[in-house]
Amino acid sequence: MMRVAVIGGGQLARMMALNGLRLGLQFSFLVEPDESTQCVDNLGEKVVWDLGELLNDGSEAAFHDLFNALGRPQVITVEKEAVPVDLLRGLAQFTAVHPNPDSVYQTQHRAREKQLLSRLSIPTASFKVASTFADVRAAYAEFGLPLFIKAVESGYDGKNQWQIHSVADLESFERESPAGPWVVEKHVRFDREASLIGARSASGETVFYPLTENLHRRGILIRSIAPAPNLGADTERNAQDYMQRLFAELNYVGVLAMECFVCGDDLLVNELAPRVHNSGHWTMDAGICSQFENHLRAIMDWPLGNTQPNGPKGMVNILGSRDLTKHQPRHPGPSWLSDAGTFHWYNKTDRPGRKLGHINIAHEDLATLQTLLAAQDEQLYGETQTK
Ligand code: AMP
Repeated sequence: MMRVAVIGGGQLARMMALNGLRLGLQFSFLVEPDESTQCVDNLGEKVVWDLGELLNDGSEAAFHDLFNALGRPQVITVEKEAVPVDLLRGLAQFTAVHPNPDSVYQTQHRAREKQLLSRLSIPTASFKVASTFADVRAAYAEFGLPLFIKAVESGYDGKNQWQIHSVADLESFERESPAGPWVVEKHVRFDREASLIGARSASGETVFYPLTENLHRRGILIRSIAPAPNLGADTERNAQDYMQRLFAELNYVGVLAMECFVCGDDLLVNELAPRVHNSGHWTMDAGICSQFENHLRAIMDWPLGNTQPNGPKGMVNILGSRDLTKHQPRHPGPSWLSDAGTFHWYNKTDRPGRKLGHINIAHEDLATLQTLLAAQDEQLYGETQTK
C-alpha cells in the first residue's frame, strides 16, 4: 500500500486524504502536540511529534525515527507553508518531499517570495523590504499613500498586515511596534482578484485550471467563480507563463497557487502558496480532476487529470460565526443544505472568521450562477457587497 504523509492536519489535509483514499492511498498526518486535528479524524494515522525537540537534535537518526513513525511514506507533502524548512530537509534524506524544501523556503517568506518574482520578471505591486521604521518611512516617501505593510512571516488571511491610509495610521503602526521585517507595498487599484492553480508532476507534466475570480472580505476569501468571467485570452496565457517560470526555477512538484490582482488585462502577482488552495475548492464538484487529486497524482508521479470544467463553477466559504456572520454554524443543518450546491464540512469547532466549510455551486448559465452565489453569500453573511 502506498502512503503519503502530510505535514499538518487541517482542512486541506482532510480534503487531500478524502480524495486520496479513493485513489487507494494511505495517509499519515504529522502534527504538533498543541495542534487541533479534528479535520483528519478517521482519515489516517495522526503522528504527534515535538518538532522543537527534533530540530534541536537535528541528527539523521532523529529524522529517521520520525520517518518510521510516519509509516515510511513514499512521499511527504505539506498542507501549509509555515513549516520549518529544516524539517523538510531532514525528512528528504529518507524519501521524496514534494514540493521540495527550497520551494517552501522561497514562498513562506514574503520578502523572499517577492524577490523570486522580481528575479523571474513576474510583475508585482511596487514593494520595498523594510527592517526598520526608517525603511518604512522611505517606502512611504517613494510610494505615497495608501500603503500595505505586511510582516514577512506568519501572515495569512489578512493577519499581520496594516493598511496605511494616513500619516496617523503610519504613526499608530509605529506605536504598535510590531515585529519586522516587513514588505511595504504600494496599494494596487485592482479591478478584481484572480488566482491560477496549476500542477507539475515529478516527470515535468504540467496542467492549469482556468483562472478563478475571488472575492475577499476583510482579507479572507469569501467566494470564487471559475472560469473568471470576461478575461482576455492574453491574461490567461500570461498567468500560465508566469507559473511555468516558477515551476522551472523551483523544479516544483505538486499543486501551486498564484494569487493575482487583475488591472485591465494586466496581472500583478500578489502571493504564492506551495499547496492546494481555497480558491480551488470548486474543482471538487466540477466533473474534472480536483486540485486535491491532481496534487496527489503530481507528487506520486502519475499522469495528471483534466482541469477544464464544462461550464461555470463557484464556491462560497462558510466562516466561523459572531463578528463575521449572522449565523452560528455548528454543523450542517437544514438551513445550510439548500438544493443549489454541494456541502463540504471540515469538522472544526467554531471560532470567529475560521474556515469551517464551503458550498460549491455550479450552473450552466453564468448570470444564474452569479445570482446563486450572491444569494448564498447573503444567506450566510447578510451582506450584499460585491467588492
Ligand atoms: P495577502 O495577505 O497578501 O493575500 O492580502 C490579503 C488581501 O488584501 C488581498 O487578497 C487583497 O484583497 C488585499 N491586498 C493585499 N495587498 C494589497 C495591495 N498591495 N494593494 C491592494 N490590496 C491589497
